[in-house]
Amino acid sequence: MRGVFSFLPEKRVLVDREDLLLYAYDATPGRKYPVAVVRPTSREEVVEIVRAASRHGLSLVARGAGTSLSGAPLPREGCVVVDFTLMDKIIEVDEANAFVAAQPGVVYDELNRTLSRYGLFFPPDPGSGSVCTLGGMVAMNSSGIRAVKYGTTRDYVASLEVVLASGEVLHLGGRYRKSASGYDLKSLFVGSEGTLGLFTEIGLRLVPKPSHRAAMIAGFDSFEKAAEAITRALAAHVDVAVLEVMDSRVVEAVESFSGINLGSAEVLVLAEVEGFDAGVEEEIRRVARIFTEAGAGVELAFDEAEIARLWKARKAALPALARLAETLLLEDITVPVAALPEMMRRIGRLAERHRLRIATFGHAGDGNLHPTFLVNGEEELKRARAAIEELFRECLALGGTLSGEHGIGVEKRPYFELEHGRTVQVMREIKRALDPQGIMNPGKIF
Ligand SMILES: Cc1cc2nc3c(=O)[nH]c(=O)nc-3n(C[C@H](O)[C@H](O)[C@H](O)COP(=O)(O)OP(=O)(O)OC[C@H]3O[C@@H](n4cnc5c(N)ncnc54)[C@H](O)[C@@H]3O)c2cc1C
Repeated sequence: MRGVFSFLPEKRVLVDREDLLLYAYDATPGRKYPVAVVRPTSREEVVEIVRAASRHGLSLVARGAGTSLSGAPLPREGCVVVDFTLMDKIIEVDEANAFVAAQPGVVYDELNRTLSRYGLFFPPDPGSGSVCTLGGMVAMNSSGIRAVKYGTTRDYVASLEVVLASGEVLHLGGRYRKSASGYDLKSLFVGSEGTLGLFTEIGLRLVPKPSHRAAMIAGFDSFEKAAEAITRALAAHVDVAVLEVMDSRVVEAVESFSGINLGSAEVLVLAEVEGFDAGVEEEIRRVARIFTEAGAGVELAFDEAEIARLWKARKAALPALARLAETLLLEDITVPVAALPEMMRRIGRLAERHRLRIATFGHAGDGNLHPTFLVNGEEELKRARAAIEELFRECLALGGTLSGEHGIGVEKRPYFELEHGRTVQVMREIKRALDPQGIMNPGKIF
């Protein structure tokens, strides 16, 4: 395999089994070895890699940090992994245009650390931000706790440099604020999970970094009441940057994992307001009033240390749950926010029907829930898989989508048509037009 990529230095073509093992995983259960890993450092090398793969009938799967929760960067039989982590340069910060150009291997938090020196930031804020890369974020259209105010990665992608399966390089978009010029191909590549081409440069539109923030934690005695309060607050057009929820199973797990005392509430909602002046304080008090009227006990936080204390609980959710079962199946359904209370009722009924433990937390402000199935043993895994199919059907019946942020990958592939019906055929035709040999991340999405 080294011969195929002989234009790269030997140490950047990995073929030994122990090296390949590192690339056989993402954050989902299971493992798949690639036949080789190549580690480019420039666009020119990526072009050469694609041409060599095409000549030798090899398929390619791009990889950033490998934190995907849907199996998207897992190699298929005979696949070569293109590891983008050496392409990690911030190329230019253009303050006047609030724009940054960067290579795809730049880590999200590192980008924002640099941007903070200019008073700017790139807001999506995924939970994996300390390690995940811009290439992975664009390919998955990632987002996170701030999506309720700022939207998703797609809203910030201004330009892309993409290497197609033919080896041709496309330049899409630009640093302008608006354009009415032709098809928006740039957006087509956002969320394409590496199936249409490889990103070698990413241009992002940025926003000013807020100078003030304030937070609130609210406790309820049931998830339904919490969900009702959330929909009430959103109907009152509260200007929140964060609106997170954790059910009783998550609260219990966090308390025993981290030793944080979260009081007697069954369900917690965490809200944050951010901006540039004292209006922030007024707005968080308005949010608190709505939650108090809905029956919650609330606590407000105005300085960084207090806010960090409230955040510690939310950040501990996933590691706390991971201790409770052999396998976690973390789902990512998203429903219109008004349907949240009904979705929660349906999740409760599903857990009872299938005799399963489901812990739910998520970005309630944008209707994105992470029902997490806590599973031990093969028999329970089978029941959980059946319940997950029902979960998807229930979510779609409420006007929702299979994935708010983790993508389709291989995990949700069997259900993709349930959501999109005949449109899947149009997507396949687009894929065929751009990648006729099917060498870009085969076996993903559909
Ligand atoms: C603890 C934890 C918390 C998480 N929290 C969130 C969250 O809050 N929100 C969220 O959205 N996601 C979250 N995720 C999922 C995951 O972190 C994101 O999808 C992330 O953006 C993936 O980035 P990555 O660098 O790890 O990409 P990878 O997992 O390596 O790859 C993801 C996809 O991107 C493609 N890709 C990577 N680089 C390129 C490139 N240069 N060109 C073309 N395609 C490319 C890959 O082929 C693959 O299909 C979380 C994951 C974990 C483990």
